Amino acid sequence: MQPFAFSRPGSVADALLDHEADPNAAYVAGGTTLIDLAKLNVVHPQALVDLNRTGLDRIEPLAGGGLKIGGLVRNSDLARHPRVRADYPVLAEAILAGASAQLRNMATTGGNLLQRTRCPYFRDNVSACNKRSPGSGCAALDGHNRSHAILGGSTRCIATHPSDLSVGLAVLDAQVLVQGNGGERAIPFAEFHRLPGDTPEIESALEPGEIITAVVLPASPAGARSWYLKVRDRESYAFALASAAVLIVPAADGRSLREARIALGGVATKPWRAREAETLLACVPANEANFRAAAEAALREAQPRRHNAFKVELARRVIVRALTLVAAGQPPVRTT
Ligand code: SF4
Repeated sequence: MQPFAFSRPGSVADALLDHEADPNAAYVAGGTTLIDLAKLNVVHPQALVDLNRTGLDRIEPLAGGGLKIGGLVRNSDLARHPRVRADYPVLAEAILAGASAQLRNMATTGGNLLQRTRCPYFRDNVSACNKRSPGSGCAALDGHNRSHAILGGSTRCIATHPSDLSVGLAVLDAQVLVQGNGGERAIPFAEFHRLPGDTPEIESALEPGEIITAVVLPASPAGARSWYLKVRDRESYAFALASAAVLIVPAADGRSLREARIALGGVATKPWRAREAETLLACVPANEANFRAAAEAALREAQPRRHNAFKVELARRVIVRALTLVAAGQPPVRTT
């Protein structure tokens, strides 16, 4: 049992931590990652600031057609919101493909962006892990690395980012609004998560003490269709081996693409936009040959390890399948 102080402020202003004065304090929202890791002795917060009464639990339509999602909005509430299901089906599907109903009832939008990797060495506090204990090494590089990343890794860390929701947000070009003692700022989603490089312990652009107050979705492009396809070891309550969030805007002829976007999950160290693949799909016929060429481009830089080479072809096939499905029409979003 680790003793810790606990506070429950009623506003964001009252919740903001002074990291220099209190470096071992942490925010807690749904608690679906932090409490697990504290029980496993991986994190040791000495004070917890509960954000659940800060009023960040609203979903608000924006002028011009976008949506502002409060950082404390529960995953379940977001997935069943009528505007999300109608205008951003990729996001609803991504959320419902993740975790379990019980976890989605607790987990929050902001917390989901910050969830920690499921690398088993990270969660086992006697293994070498640069992310948990900087400079200690990486047991996964030559260890059991079936679930690890083939894109975006470094010689210090190859852990995959576990979030499904974040892959959906990546393809939607969302922005993350954060607030700290220095004020508010907006971070483009593509810049929010960091590659591990030499400092895998620094996972996001969030400065110490900042809170995610909201995620902003721009208006969906006219005529867009979007979808999330996730492949995993079992069909429920499992992390992705490979997933793809895709968004297409069909051209007026109905057979070609005006625009296509692809983000990958389960294969990279952060939610991964496949920009080169997207370029190949602009203004071309929506057919299998073009989808396959895009999938090849998306995985061109892949660096598989001993146990995860299967992910290269798996990810290609997930991309082709997701694009094929959405090109045929908007698939219905699951209900649970
Ligand atoms: Fe730690 Fe990353 Fe290596 Fe896993 S892959 S052991 S999280 S450094």
